[in-house]
Amino acid sequence: YYNNNTFVFLNGQWLPAKEANTSLYGQTLHYGNGVFEGIRAYKNDVGFNIFKAHEHFERLHYSAQLMHIDLPYSVDELVSISYELLDKNNLTDAYIRPLVYLGANMALEPVKEVNVFICAWKWEKYLGNNPIKAKISSYQRIHPASQHVEAKVVGHYTNSILATTEAKKNGYDEAILLDHTGHVSEGSGANIFIEKNGELFTPSRGNILPGITRRTVIDLARELGIKLTEKPITKSQLLDADCAFFTGTAAEVAPIASVDKTTFPLHWEDSLGYNLYQMYRQKVQYNDLQNQTII
Ligand code: PMP
Repeated sequence: YYNNNTFVFLNGQWLPAKEANTSLYGQTLHYGNGVFEGIRAYKNDVGFNIFKAHEHFERLHYSAQLMHIDLPYSVDELVSISYELLDKNNLTDAYIRPLVYLGANMALEPVKEVNVFICAWKWEKYLGNNPIKAKISSYQRIHPASQHVEAKVVGHYTNSILATTEAKKNGYDEAILLDHTGHVSEGSGANIFIEKNGELFTPSRGNILPGITRRTVIDLARELGIKLTEKPITKSQLLDADCAFFTGTAAEVAPIASVDKTTFPLHWEDSLGYNLYQMYRQKVQYNDLQNQTII
């Protein structure tokens, strides 16, 4: 993730990554109370574009607010820090990871010391380009009455790690988690869509992280005149689909080949998801033009 020339942003300072240190007594490290984002920048012919930078930092603020964390930077400040971060590291196609983590406190209460760390690195498409073998997890997606599922909270990801570990131990690539009602919720770090008879379906909000890529794909589908419905999806509807795909900033639009022992009949290249992925790749380069850096 870093080498001797990598700079990171930590609490208002630009530091070489290897000199950026933190306390071992922080509440985020001990109890998982922190919030983060995953953002991608794309090279284009005039420089690079951080795709939906504002939306991502707005979500970071929203996550922080739900967790009673006072974030000391505005959305605009965080966006411009991110552009500067990529400039300083000569990165264009990059993944950006802002992390808001808390200082020392062993009590289970709000913490005053709020740290903001932002780093970036070159990261290939998460989950790769080959169709994914997915397993329905025995772990349920976190219950919305126990946690704020719509917030991107550090501790929530132990649920994701358990699910992917189980999937990989059983010879699969990725997990699909069901929600507390038994319906399909999402992958470990990505939303899910299914295609059936030329229409698209994706789980409605409530038991998912409402992804920014999910929103983008819904908008693109509407532009293309594809019928798309947000609704609860049962496990048998998933298994009976013609095709399915994940969406996420890191994974982009990623084809799912099979779920458990069921292989989807429709070839990825012939699917709506494939067309949407081509459109997505175009869109990410030029959105958010007002913040574009010319290099
Ligand atoms: N669900 C979960 C649990 C995630 O971690 C992510 C990645 N942030 C997503 C969905 C997709 O969200 P986005 O498209 O905003 O990256």
